[in-house]
Amino acid sequence: MTTQTPDLSHLWMPFTANRSFKAAPRLLASAKGMYYKSTDGRQILDGCAGLWCVNAGHCRDEIVQAIATQAATLDYAPSFQMGHPLAFETATAVAALMPKGMQRIFFTNSGSESVDTALKIALAYHRANGQPQRTRLIGRERGYHGVGFGGISVGGISPNRKAFSNSLIPNVDHLPHTHNLEKNAFSKGQPAWGAHLADELERIVTLHDASTIAAVIVEPMAGSTGVLIPPKGYLERLREITSKHGILLIFDEVITGFGRLGANTASDYFGVTPDVITMAKGISNAAVPAGAVAVTNSLYDTVVNASENGIELFHGYTYSGHPLAMAAIGATLALYQSEGIFENARKRSPAFEAAAHALNGLPNVIDVRNLGMVAGVELAPRENAPGARAAEVFQRCYDAGVLLRYTGDTIALSPPLIVNEEQINTLFDVLGQAISQTA
Ligand code: PMP
Repeated sequence: MTTQTPDLSHLWMPFTANRSFKAAPRLLASAKGMYYKSTDGRQILDGCAGLWCVNAGHCRDEIVQAIATQAATLDYAPSFQMGHPLAFETATAVAALMPKGMQRIFFTNSGSESVDTALKIALAYHRANGQPQRTRLIGRERGYHGVGFGGISVGGISPNRKAFSNSLIPNVDHLPHTHNLEKNAFSKGQPAWGAHLADELERIVTLHDASTIAAVIVEPMAGSTGVLIPPKGYLERLREITSKHGILLIFDEVITGFGRLGANTASDYFGVTPDVITMAKGISNAAVPAGAVAVTNSLYDTVVNASENGIELFHGYTYSGHPLAMAAIGATLALYQSEGIFENARKRSPAFEAAAHALNGLPNVIDVRNLGMVAGVELAPRENAPGARAAEVFQRCYDAGVLLRYTGDTIALSPPLIVNEEQINTLFDVLGQAISQTA
């Protein structure tokens, strides 16, 4: 294990200002189960499943073995006019976890790729369906859909959009987000207020005419922008309005898929079935980069039957269905099932909810929200320094041996789904102490 700071002069770090690491880099050396080990030899409890992705815990032997065996058997097969049996088997395994009638799977390598793929599928579908003028896309304020141009265009994070404002894809509208501290602070599970915000879709439809609109994309529960839980009835209304107008509904389940809410998908959890689901992260337990898009059987049939040679959608990646990703996905899904990992998330979520809401009353805690195995603790921003308080709390937790994530002034928790009650208590105890110290 290295304890030295590496040469910082070449790696352009993702999402991160390198300079913020010069004094004290936070570097991880190894991981097992619920824990990381840092390069300075400390054990760190993983309160965020890496980045909402290591749902079965770290370095699981079954997954490691499956990847190693696959690497030695078939390392790669061309994705162009070729395939390999494991990709078909893996699609079958993924399809088994999708809602009824959504049994067609396209493989990608990340959430961002899944989103771009889903948006292209939506446009291809309408073209194939004789409505090529349906190209308008609708996202939501405070939506996060990755970092591709498609994703930042339908995404609703202003700084990401402003930085590329002249280059975003055209004809995109945004629904309002549903976060409202006055109405919904400290609600447990789904807030009661806000379903009517879905009706804004009708306003957009009136403005542009339904015949121009291809799809609406939302995260059923927004994670990266601060754990925003959908109000009761909100997703149902979105489904109703999109169906009425022939608009496709895309659920971005990159975070919510594979047990995060204690169900196979958020679609399952909420009982609302979209037309397209994007996935990544937990699909492979993050052991190999992987993602997927599930579509309804009828959508698939429309697209592939539209042209004689079946390439109405000419789309794919060199690594679509990569053998190592397929091996990792297969082993991951088998582990989720054999260990009842989604059930564990369900079983632990009442304790998780109680521990989260026990922070209510600590200084500067202005909201706690939770669903399944996800919680957000929102802190009052410091004057003229938004995000600074959460950054300080995050650092204090890390120093105390707990890895969380912060976004704006919200601390997000989404531990591996194998978490036990003692670990849940440690996560929130350490967070509570850090919040008190930061006051
Ligand atoms: N969509 C959602 C809902 C996400 O949460 C994320 C990642 N946090 C992405 C897309 C992008 O995924 P990736 O970083 O794998 O490209």
